[in-house]
Amino acid sequence: MSAPSPLVAIVGRPNVGKSALFNRMTRSRRALVERLAGTTRDRQYGWCRWGRRRFRVVDTGGLEGPDDFPGAPFADPIREQVELALDEADRREASANVHELHALGLGEPILISAYHGEGTGDLLDDVVERLPEPGAAEESERAQPIRIAIVGRPNVGKSSLANAILGEERTIVSDIPGTTRDAIDSPFAFEGHEMVLVDTAGIRRRGKIGRGVERHSVQQAERAIARADVVFLLIEPSEPTAAQDMHIASRIVEFGKGMVLVVNKWDLAEPGTERGAYAREIDGRYRFAPWAPVHFTSALTGQGIPDLLQLAVHVDEVRRRRVQTSELNRVLQRAFVQHPPRSVGRRRLKLLYVTQAEVQPPTFVFFVNDPELLHFAYRRYLENRIRDAFGFEGAAIRLRFRARGAEDAAIEAAEGVEAPA
Ligand code: GDP
Repeated sequence: MSAPSPLVAIVGRPNVGKSALFNRMTRSRRALVERLAGTTRDRQYGWCRWGRRRFRVVDTGGLEGPDDFPGAPFADPIREQVELALDEADRREASANVHELHALGLGEPILISAYHGEGTGDLLDDVVERLPEPGAAEESERAQPIRIAIVGRPNVGKSSLANAILGEERTIVSDIPGTTRDAIDSPFAFEGHEMVLVDTAGIRRRGKIGRGVERHSVQQAERAIARADVVFLLIEPSEPTAAQDMHIASRIVEFGKGMVLVVNKWDLAEPGTERGAYAREIDGRYRFAPWAPVHFTSALTGQGIPDLLQLAVHVDEVRRRRVQTSELNRVLQRAFVQHPPRSVGRRRLKLLYVTQAEVQPPTFVFFVNDPELLHFAYRRYLENRIRDAFGFEGAAIRLRFRARGAEDAAIEAAEGVEAPA
């Protein structure tokens, strides 16, 4: 299972040298600065590579609370002690303070000069030792940015959301041509993750309403979906289950993409409208994709947008997740035993062996006695069991069924051979 890339926070009072340390740690890569409308804090994110590890670093503006860094948990009492230590250390020789720092019981203090680079190697050794085990995300060293498509009916707020994410002036300088003639992709950075909004030419052009616009918008949406990793399907709060939305959602599933159902213009909702009940109503209608999270935003105020981008990071990681073959077989063999498929005449579907053949989208190949014996309800049941056991929130997954001689499958299972894609 993959974990998100580790995040290391640099905290401390203003002017202690956080930025100098940040610059030294991230020197191999340009710093990615979060420029997101709706956020007020000025935080710098970057990547640090040390030895075989790669992790994100955040330079905080000042000393901040643990709630601000969900990826870098640190206990409040420790923060207080650090704060205390910094107070005590004010304007005195560092070496004289070493034993005082020891007394805090936080471990060996490391003395560094970020500016000259002294001690930073030791610091990084120490940091790397404390990082969690590398997850799939880090190991696969994502070379490509996360590709996001924003789709939905006219006037739902696609351009507004794109503009809120990108910021006006930035887009003008950074638009890059996409793969088709009038597809324009807009790169941006979020919390150290490189991302791209795909096909922004169409959605950022205003005043295009006219005849044929519905059909045109569906075609445009499909083109954007095909080129994306994660799709934000924007929904009108007043009309959350329009036929066209359902159609586009089903296309996203067929394309095997990540999907977030985004209820935009939430600032217009009646005060006191309960999100939970609303989300459940949507879930009930989008029953073919119960795994797609429902998220609430306002492109106007910026509300919910950072969380939405965090969700995109998560869904992208989920799509690259690889399940161990042994685990998978254990879970699905048990699923067959607990709820056996109905027999068709005198025959019954039998599972010989299952393996995850691909990622992006996660694709599972079931070797069975006869694929013709599979009922669609049973396929749904098997997908649910995979999701119950392994998650895959926000990601469409694929199940394929193939006939295979029992003997071959048994040998492969014994040898742990991956089935061909
Ligand atoms: P698009 O056709 O999907 O690209 O929609 P636009 O972004 O052009 O938005 C259509 C209209 O809705 C514009 O008048 C926007 O100002 C407005 N709008 C977009 N997002 C929001 C929002 O979150 N809240 C409110 N109140 N209005 C919004």
